[in-house]
Amino acid sequence: MLKYVFGPVPSRRLGISLGVDLVPSKICSFDCVYCECGATTKLTSQRKEYVPVEQVKQEIASFLNSNPPPEYITLSGSGEPTLNVGFGEVIRFVSSGWPEIPVAVLTNGSLLYRPDVRKDLMQADLVLPSLDAGSQKVFSRINVPVRGMDIGEYTQGLVDFRTEFPGEIWLETLILPGYNDSDEELDLMKAAFQRISPDRIQINTLDRPGRMPGLKAASMEELERIKNYWNLSATEIIAPAQTRKEVQSYSSNIEETILGTVTRRPCTVQDLSSVLGLHVNEVNKYLAVMEEQGIIKQLRQKRGIFYTVQG
Ligand code: SF4
Repeated sequence: MLKYVFGPVPSRRLGISLGVDLVPSKICSFDCVYCECGATTKLTSQRKEYVPVEQVKQEIASFLNSNPPPEYITLSGSGEPTLNVGFGEVIRFVSSGWPEIPVAVLTNGSLLYRPDVRKDLMQADLVLPSLDAGSQKVFSRINVPVRGMDIGEYTQGLVDFRTEFPGEIWLETLILPGYNDSDEELDLMKAAFQRISPDRIQINTLDRPGRMPGLKAASMEELERIKNYWNLSATEIIAPAQTRKEVQSYSSNIEETILGTVTRRPCTVQDLSSVLGLHVNEVNKYLAVMEEQGIIKQLRQKRGIFYTVQG
């Protein structure tokens, strides 16, 4: 079984994407309240080889040599991929061996203030950073960054990266009602977006349960209102979960196995990940579709969120 490569995952933003996880769960420079991978267990901005890059490269090669090519190879996973000092080497390995497959990097953008991180990202075809706040107060509340991280430096990192990077930048912003949807915050975010000038601004909201109980997703009307309020070009709302089912790599066998498993007993996403031998992110994509269709439902218990069949 592959340890660091997962999928291909039916991704809303990237189609059929092969995921590469470069940090163990859950090492991140943020502890976002909405994180679908659970609470950060190691909050850090220290870069090191958190997982062995040689083994990651072997797994990528073994997958690509025996499977149809995915639409993207995406460095993502259950933490911040740029924390791994070898992420640039992984990008270069794919670009030189399989130049026809574009490499995307899903990052929280927090390390873009560092010239070495920006340099390592240069070989990527597409970078998808996030920005959910305009003020330090909201940044601290929604993203809960590592101590001392400053919104000004964070935003400037994104601006600097834009001026250096020749590829596409799709900036994701996650709207969380009660956190970052006030007019004052939206104005600050708009000013930051204008400075960064990404190729696309993708508005998203909560899709899976976050690490903090009680969070609510924004409605489609609210997302439309914010999109119109910003009135910026190249802004789009990310399509809802059910469209994932149209993605070619969506497997009804996996859906059936999940259904069979949760029919016998309620399971957490981690339980399902062990049963199926699939990455948590991959399982989450299926759960989103099945919940949207009313096949399964959530039960919040002490050990976390459990999934069971809709009665
Ligand atoms: S959402 Fe991304 S950046 Fe935020 S805590 Fe989770 S892995 Fe880290």
